[in-house]
Parts: sequence; structure tokens; C-alpha cells
Amino acid sequence: MTRTLDHILLLAGTSEARQLAKSIAQRFAAVRLTVSFAGVVKDLPDLGVPTRVGGFGGVDGLVSYLQEEGVDLIIDATHPFAAQMSRHAVDAAGQTDTHLIRLERPIWHEVDGDTWQHVASTTAAAEALPEKSRAFLSVGRKEIDKFTNRDDCFALVRMIEPPERPLPDHWHLVLERPSKSVDAERHLLKHHKITHLVTKNSGGASSYAKIEAARQLEVPLLMIKRPALPDANTAASTAEVLKFIEQFVDCRD
Ligand code: NAP
Repeated sequence: MTRTLDHILLLAGTSEARQLAKSIAQRFAAVRLTVSFAGVVKDLPDLGVPTRVGGFGGVDGLVSYLQEEGVDLIIDATHPFAAQMSRHAVDAAGQTDTHLIRLERPIWHEVDGDTWQHVASTTAAAEALPEKSRAFLSVGRKEIDKFTNRDDCFALVRMIEPPERPLPDHWHLVLERPSKSVDAERHLLKHHKITHLVTKNSGGASSYAKIEAARQLEVPLLMIKRPALPDANTAASTAEVLKFIEQFVDCRD
């Protein structure tokens, strides 16, 4: 038996990370796995595997963690907009000769019936919103402050945890995960008379329903481009990540 992998650090925060945690624990049971959450969302899933919560303390902190815990593979399955963590992972892996693979969901592409305006950042999206529009801001908690100066607009704001600072009084806050139901998303857009949807190009199936709903209702969309990330090994799916792990672990034992 050849095994050259002792400890996998899985950087989490996405549904793919949760799937990977379960699959790795099942398929590579002899390899130590630690799943790491930022701790932004309080209600963490019980994955039945060892978990740590909270930042590492920048690149230096991550380097120390990798060395002290004998990590030999980092799987970066953070959200495509969690760019700082992904950059730190590349830096720390480089400094410690740790293997790294980043799961990069394919981006969403415009299809017939979509009206998208591509914007470079959340700040650009806030500036591009037409005056007095009624926006559905599906941008997460961290970025919402970039929009609050646009109180000439109405905004329906959806996020998982409450915002740090209060939103304008006439805005409507929904504390929920994105719905997978196109009907539910269409209802929400219609109910709040939404004229513009603002979203990050997160990719993946779990938050695509709102885009389909906007297409059906002919609601234009401001699509925020992904941040650039340094080069790394990448995989487009959880299956590809599992295949990458196989090269280190002989599963015939
Ligand atoms: P970020 O800006 O890239 O990271 C900020 C800091 O949070 C990092 O420098 C790191 O702190 C810590 N951190 C992030 N992910 C971590 C992880 N998995 N384990 C341990 N520490 C982590 O990330 P973010 O945009 O704040 O996102 C935070 C988490 O929410 C991520 O895990 C991400 O997958 C998830 N998420 C983000 C978005 C989004 O749109 N940004 C959407 C859905 C889910 P130190 O420097 O101290 O190590």
C-alpha cells in the first residue's frame, strides 16, 4: 500500500465543501481530514468530521497551522468571492510545499432571454443601479454596505445572517438562504415589484433559481464579476477533487 497523504485541510463555506467533507471521510477514511469554517455563519452544519472554526491569522497563521498540524494537502472549496482566503491558501501552500487544489465552480453565462450588465465589483453595481429602481440585492452580508448610500432606491435584501449595520428603513430584509425554487423566486421578485436583480457570478446550481426567475419576468440583472485569483491547480467539480486525491492515496488496501 502506498499512502503519501496524512492530513487534508478542507477550507469550507460552500455546499460543495460539505459534500466533499462527507465523500472524503467515506472514501479516504485513513487520511486525517480537518474542515475549516470562517465562522461567519453561526449555524454550522454537523458534518460528522473534525472541524475548526475561525481565521488562521493571515498567511503567517496559516503557514504555522500547516506546519504544526502536518497538513499535506489543502482543498480550497471556499466561495468564489472569498478571494482573500484563496490568496492566502496559495501563498501558504507555496511557502510550505503543501499540495493545493482549488474547487472553482464554472461561472454562469447569459442565455437567450437574459439581460445582463456585467460589472467589475459591488461598488460598480451600486453605482450602476438606475435612480429610484427597485433592486433585489443578492450580494451577501459583507458587501451590503456598498449599497446603503443608494437609498433613493428600494432594496429587497437577502442574506443568511443579519447585517452588521442597519439598512435604510424603507428596505426589506429577508434572512434566508437562496431558494432553489424558480416559482418561489419569481413570487419574491413580483411581490416586491423588482426592476433589477444584483448578484455575484457565484456559479453552481444552488442559487441559480433567481436568475431563471428574472429571465422569465424580463428583469434585468447586474452581474458582478469574480475577483481574480492567483494560479493554482483547479477542479471544476467535487468529483474532480476526489480524483485529484486518488493520485496520493492507494485505495486498494
Ligand atoms: P475572505 O474575505 O476570503 O476571507 C476573510 C478571512 O476570513 C480570511 O482571511 C480568513 O481569515 C477567514 N476565512 C475565510 N474562509 C475561511 C475558512 N474556510 N476557514 C478559516 N478561515 C477562513 O472570505 P469571506 O468572503 O469573508 O467569506 C468567509 C466564508 O464565507 C468563506 O469560508 C466562504 O467560503 C464563505 N462564503 C463567502 C461568500 C462570499 O460571497 N464572499 C458567499 C458564501 C459563502 P485569516 O486571514 O485570519 O485566516
